[in-house]
Formats: sequence, structure tokens, C-alpha cells
Amino acid sequence: MLLKNFWPRLATSQELGSLKEYLEKIETYLGEAREMAREELEDWLNAEAAKLSPTERSDFYEFFVDKQWQYSEVFPGILRNSFLVTLHSVLENELAWICDSLRRKKDIPISWSKLKGNALERAKVYISKLGGLDFPTGQSWVEINSYITIRNCIVHNVGNVRGFSKEKELRDYCSKQAGISIDTEGNLVLSKDFCLQAVSTLQEFFEELYDSYEGKQSTMTYHVYENWTVHKARVHFSDCSFCNDGKGIHPNAGPNNGRWLGPFATLDEALQVAQATGEPVSKCKFCRPQG
Ligand SMILES: [Zn+2]
Repeated sequence: MLLKNFWPRLATSQELGSLKEYLEKIETYLGEAREMAREELEDWLNAEAAKLSPTERSDFYEFFVDKQWQYSEVFPGILRNSFLVTLHSVLENELAWICDSLRRKKDIPISWSKLKGNALERAKVYISKLGGLDFPTGQSWVEINSYITIRNCIVHNVGNVRGFSKEKELRDYCSKQAGISIDTEGNLVLSKDFCLQAVSTLQEFFEELYDSYEGKQSTMTYHVYENWTVHKARVHFSDCSFCNDGKGIHPNAGPNNGRWLGPFATLDEALQVAQATGEPVSKCKFCRPQG
């Protein structure tokens, strides 16, 4: 959480990076398990089959095929479907964090959860209309909306498009999109590459959103903390958690250790004031104020 407060872009990119790595690893393990199971069963069948009648032998082979199908189709299917559901919750959590952070920064009187519509629509309206940021509505946003439809089909219709409210939309999407298809029974079939591409799409989307988020930060003001105890004058962005608009982390602390100076409109002005205190000047290493 600390990382999220100071470097939200980095925290988001790390979380998405971990998800990518997780999928790669589990897919590898599944592939290895499938191979092991195949070798074991083949050895066993070869040893046992000779003792069996033709009917018994065919029953054993059927069991063998079922087992293989589990490793090659069923388990990857469960993994990838739940992966997309997890990705969706990461998306929602990240958007919620940005909305809450904008609410604190700009004193927006209502929470994003009070708006109408699904979570994504609410976040879009909140971030663009109330937060004043440029909300990315390009290709990554279009793709993300398709992932949401897929996610809803997985969660509300066990991943089967038949009878799902957006069946036609999903069928159209799957007919054009690589890495996702619908089997003869109506089940969505996701490939590993499709899931990895979904992470990359989210990464692109958040990079764009954070460009806008950080762009707004550059119009922020600055404060200086003159510390009389350890003899330092440190410059912060006013919205740094340590600065808290010149209230610091202990708003009720008395003036025994030091005092806040500011706000200042430019970094230069803040630095001049800091130098004028006569204390050694530094910039906060957490908010890293820039002009
Ligand atoms: Zn700071």
C-alpha cells in the first residue's frame, strides 16, 4: 500500500507484471504435469494391456484419453477463465484507487460508487468529468470493454455463450479475434496468448491513464518543511503524503520540531525559500518534486 501511495504507476505495473508471470508459470507446470501423466499412463497401459481382453483394453484407453483431455483442455480452461476474472478485479481495484485518490486531491463531494452504471462506466465518468483527467478511450479501452463482456459470461453463465444476454456480440468478437473461440457446445475457449494480450492491453491503458494523472500533478504546488531538530529544509509536492498540504503526517504536532512553509507555485520559489532558512536543502525522495 505504501508503494501505491507514492508510486501508483509502478505499483500497478508491478501487479500486472506479477499476473503475467503467474500465468506463464502455471501454464508451464500444467504442460509438465500433462507430459508426466502421459508417460506414466503409457507405461502402465503397455504393461497392463497385454493381460486384458479387447473390451477391457478399450475401456482403459478411454480412461487414458479422458485423463489427457483434462490436462490439455479442462485445467487450462479453468485457469484461463479464472485468470480473466482476476484481471477484471485488478482493473476495478486500480480504477477505484485512482477515483478515491482524485476525490481526496480535489475534494470531490461524492464517491465514484454513488454514480450510476457498471463499475467501468462510473470510473470513466468520475475520472474524466469530476477528476478532470483525459480518460483513454482508444483501442485499449475498446478491448477492455470486450474483456468485461467475456468476464461477465464466465461469471454469470459459466463461460457458455448460449442464452447469455450478449451472445451475438461475443460470437462476432470471437469470429474476428485471435486466441478466443467458441466450441460446439457454446463454451468460450481462451488461449494463453489471449490472456497475456489482455494483460498487455491493461498495461497500455494504465500507462495512458497515469500519463494524464501525473500530468495534472505537475500543476501542483510545493511546500517546504524547515526542520529545526535535524537541521534540514526539505521541498515536497503539496500532495505528498508526508506534506499533506502543509499539515504533515501529524496534523496536531506543535511547532517544536519545525514548520511548514508554503504553498509555492513553482519549484524555484520553494527552493529559494528553503535556502533562505539557512538549513541544508534537499528534495523529498518519495514525492520527488520536479518543476
Ligand atoms: Zn514529499
